[in-house]
Amino acid sequence: MDLKIPFTGQKRLVIIGGGFGGIEIAKELKDQDIQIVMLDKNNYHTFQPLLYQVATGGLEPGSIAYPLRKFMQEIPNGIFRMAEVTHIDTDTQKINTDIGDLHYDYLVIATGSKTNFFQFPADVSGKMMEMKDIPQALNLRSYILESFEEALLTYDETKKEELINIAIVGGGPTGVELAGALGEMRKNILPKDYPELDFRKMQIHLFEAGPRLLAAMHPENSDKALKYVKDFGVNVWLNTMVTGYNGQEINLSNGKIVRSGTVIWTAGVKGNPIAGLPETAKAGGNRILVDEFCRVKDTENIFAVGDVACMIQDKFPKGHPMVAPVAIQQGDLVAKNILLLMKGKDAKPFVYFDKGAMATVGRNKAVMESKGMKMGGFIAWLAWLFVHVMTLVGFRNKLTVTMGWLYNYFTYDRTLRLIIRPSKRKDD
Ligand SMILES: Cc1cc2nc3c(=O)[nH]c(=O)nc-3n(C[C@H](O)[C@H](O)[C@H](O)COP(=O)(O)OP(=O)(O)OC[C@H]3O[C@@H](n4cnc5c(N)ncnc54)[C@H](O)[C@@H]3O)c2cc1C
Repeated sequence: MDLKIPFTGQKRLVIIGGGFGGIEIAKELKDQDIQIVMLDKNNYHTFQPLLYQVATGGLEPGSIAYPLRKFMQEIPNGIFRMAEVTHIDTDTQKINTDIGDLHYDYLVIATGSKTNFFQFPADVSGKMMEMKDIPQALNLRSYILESFEEALLTYDETKKEELINIAIVGGGPTGVELAGALGEMRKNILPKDYPELDFRKMQIHLFEAGPRLLAAMHPENSDKALKYVKDFGVNVWLNTMVTGYNGQEINLSNGKIVRSGTVIWTAGVKGNPIAGLPETAKAGGNRILVDEFCRVKDTENIFAVGDVACMIQDKFPKGHPMVAPVAIQQGDLVAKNILLLMKGKDAKPFVYFDKGAMATVGRNKAVMESKGMKMGGFIAWLAWLFVHVMTLVGFRNKLTVTMGWLYNYFTYDRTLRLIIRPSKRKDD
């Protein structure tokens, strides 16, 4: 069955995914002589960099999500359908979705990434928590809070330890930011909410397989981040791999065992491609191999941008980093290239403009670096706040996040500690 989409007589561009890359393309092609059909399995755009604040009760989900239908109101030549794309037929130029099939003249795959548990079988990874989307962040928030509620009820000290301890796997920006936020909660909030629990006994562990945190940043910033998380009382385990987990005990590569009922996996992501592309377009990390124009290998009119795309260049032999600026810049280029191709002109190659990197560690502390300049502490934290507010989609979200942060900052509180859904680990 074909999907019902108005026929305008224009060439049709189908964008799969309303993430950072997808919405950039739609913005760039606004008012151009092309029909844009955006498809997403969710009816909202997610600002993933702030998911950890939803998970720790600092922000409401509506502050970091933006309705794609509202976004598309600004694109007169655009249309949105909530649909999960399952397959691409490159011969007939059709995609299959859970609500019908659709013909495209140009196609952009901007489907992002998903959690990579590497060697762990499903019965182990299923016992860990993920934080890649809003339902998972809310699930994590409920799970942590429910564990504290349960800890109040038990006389068994070993069980209590298991319920209040939290372990994070992966010392990248997400792991470090989460560890900082949880350390701050343990210091300022949880003892007031649960006065009967002894929070001196609560352990927050951060496991990193490599020799330093924030491996993609300068070693000086790694050292600063290490100090900041340790100041929040987080136990940092460098050069330590998690080798197993049974839901209560974590096995470590150094032979030690650590007890925690909550393990949050932030140690890896992999591409989230759509089936049906040529075999030659398969790249490492489950990504789609694209040329310098972001065109999928061995196709004519299919492009991929962002986390799912792997463009191999001398400086990026394994593809570009899976971060929002890459998705935005590739989206911008693909939009311009589609217009050039429609006019019979040559497409332009992608050149990544690396603006730098930053990560925050609880209140008042962050690290950032850009163009050889490195900074830590309060000024970096202010810069982190500013950049994140400015990158959010929609004025309401910018406003609510700013207000929420001001409130949290001055009251030392996170008021969104609501258990609004029964939580579960994947295999529960
Ligand atoms: C917790 C976390 C923190 C992060 N922090 C930072 C940070 O501080 N700075 C930074 O630069 N980057 C950060 N990132 C990475 C950044 O969010 C990604 O690089 C960016 O979102 C990639 O953009 P994208 O457009 O490729 O994909 P996404 O933004 O992930 O969008 C993909 C979209 O595709 C949709 N989709 C997927 N499959 C289908 C399908 N089959 N059919 C229909 N729709 C589909 C999804 O619903 C989603 O809306 C973080 C990521 C996470 C998870």
